[in-house]
Amino acid sequence: MKGRVAALVGPAEVTIKEFEVPEPEPGAVLAKVRRANTCGSEVHIYHFHHPLIRQCVLGHEFVGEIAALGEGVETDYAGNPVGVGDRIIAPYYLTCRKCPACLRGDFNLCQRAYAFWSQPPEVEPHFHGAFATHYYVHPDQYFYKVPDSIPDEVVAGANCGLSQVLFGLHQIGLSMGDSLVVQGAGGLGLYASAVGKYMGARVIVIEGIPERLDLAKRFGAEEVVDMKEHTTPEERVEQIQSLTGGYGADVVLEVTGVPAAFVEALQIARPGGRVVEIGNVSVGKEHETSLAPGLITRKMLRVQGFVRYHPWYLHRALRFLELKHRDHPFNELTDREYPLEEAGEAIEREEAKQVARPAVVPA
Ligand SMILES: [Zn+2]
Ligand SMILES: [Zn+2]
Repeated sequence: MKGRVAALVGPAEVTIKEFEVPEPEPGAVLAKVRRANTCGSEVHIYHFHHPLIRQCVLGHEFVGEIAALGEGVETDYAGNPVGVGDRIIAPYYLTCRKCPACLRGDFNLCQRAYAFWSQPPEVEPHFHGAFATHYYVHPDQYFYKVPDSIPDEVVAGANCGLSQVLFGLHQIGLSMGDSLVVQGAGGLGLYASAVGKYMGARVIVIEGIPERLDLAKRFGAEEVVDMKEHTTPEERVEQIQSLTGGYGADVVLEVTGVPAAFVEALQIARPGGRVVEIGNVSVGKEHETSLAPGLITRKMLRVQGFVRYHPWYLHRALRFLELKHRDHPFNELTDREYPLEEAGEAIEREEAKQVARPAVVPA
């Protein structure tokens, strides 16, 4: 049987390629892709701006269903029995359990994280990206069965955006009663609003696009700061001050990907506050911004960046969705379904910030 993948062959150049669908090796799982989301990182990859990935199979946020199980696979990574037809999700990276990072328990920093995903599609077993008819879950990849109550449209973003903010907010110690300022209400910011509210925080979202401000409220934001109304960093800092009793935010989460937003986050945080950096992922001159390090010292801020997540956070993300997916309009993060042939168009929609999470659905 043949399957198809959306292969990135050059900057912004996508070709559909066909390969024989492989039999899963021991410990692996072959899945049929049901739905794959487009995420901000996909835009970097698409333009060859990602630090590690070039020619590859596009796509990493997805939900699939088991087509075949490799020898020895009887359960998911939470011990649930699995069989053909069950829906599953998997982190998009490997955790080898043997490298220096894994040996320190930093599974999200595994040195082999992208050893599988970032390969050209010609390399067997071909199906190492989610914009494809099939997805091969590597033996070093965790995977979890999806509870029946969670629809595909809701769960497709769980393995990247949702787990990412869950990990960051949990690791930084967000707790009940904290004020949480979320900079940016794209996919990550909306997930963070819902998670922050669930964790008992008072969520304030900063955003400039009207539809996103409206969505932010429906995803749990108690207050929104409209960038069209508060146009300068100084005005926004002042507005946050007035919303937090004149003291500043307990926790600030940066998910805009704009370098200057990081400096603003430091200004928004209260003395002794915490700043979570997730949105800025690129390095190099054009991604630099200027700041006085004394700002961090004098306010005694705790600043931490997060990349990927410990794979078991995906299990927590599923539990969160099982409990809360009906409370927020997760289905409104997307517009229409894009066939595999229009994967490039879906990424361009994401880039234009017209839709938070355009969805690729292979026919
Ligand atoms: Zn992603
Ligand atoms: Zn490792």
